[in-house]
Amino acid sequence: MSVQEVLLQTDFLQRGQQISKAYEIAEDVKECLGCGYDENLDGRIVVSVDGKKYYVKCPVMTQQCRYGQYMLELMEKSVLDHVRSISGVPSRFHQALESPRTTSATSGVDMWLESKKNFLLLHGSHGCGKSFGAAYALKMLDRKALMPYWDKKLLWQHIRVLWTSSYLLTNVDDVFREAQFSPFLIIDDLGSEESTSRARGRISEVISARYDHCRLTIITSNDDAVKIGETYGRRVYTRITESGMIINCGERNLRLE
Ligand SMILES: [Zn+2]
Repeated sequence: MSVQEVLLQTDFLQRGQQISKAYEIAEDVKECLGCGYDENLDGRIVVSVDGKKYYVKCPVMTQQCRYGQYMLELMEKSVLDHVRSISGVPSRFHQALESPRTTSATSGVDMWLESKKNFLLLHGSHGCGKSFGAAYALKMLDRKALMPYWDKKLLWQHIRVLWTSSYLLTNVDDVFREAQFSPFLIIDDLGSEESTSRARGRISEVISARYDHCRLTIITSNDDAVKIGETYGRRVYTRITESGMIINCGERNLRLE
């Protein structure tokens, strides 16, 4: 090894030590020193070690801090990516989920999230935005689950979701099974299944299983709770009304607006 090579290595080692020293010093920073005020800093702060300047990520992570904001944006993006990745969520909602407009359905979902009830029935005529309301609920719940960890990327964990039509739920055995156990279930368009006693029995069984284990469930339907009771029986009606919130999303056809 030549003298130059040895010198280079020493310098490299020293630099490595100085960088870890810089991060150590940064750990003691308790208040954001304005890591975003200077465009060149962009979420970093300057630390001096042995007369040399080092740029390290701001360790403070408040929402006022540039690096904190960056992490928050990353989390929001990860929520949207997750919702978009769930099969069954109509892709026509993907764009609108970024900044959803307020409708009866989304306001209902906001109330439901506050209520801590396990069931939510979004009913109303075609095009009133009830399915979008369910997708919006997914986004908001995911966000709620991640928010406590927004500054700790590695701890992010999304909620597990099954989104299905009642037709698939009653016809595909795997979906029927999963619908009973999934931590969060969305039955989109209840009433669109075949009108057989077997299909009605399967719906009733899924609702009961979810009721018994307090599992989060959103149902969208053209039918209100009374009509659902008439179709699937008194037990289903009681389960939904007892542990759930019922939102009439209205008669307005938002698709035509
Ligand atoms: Zn900062």
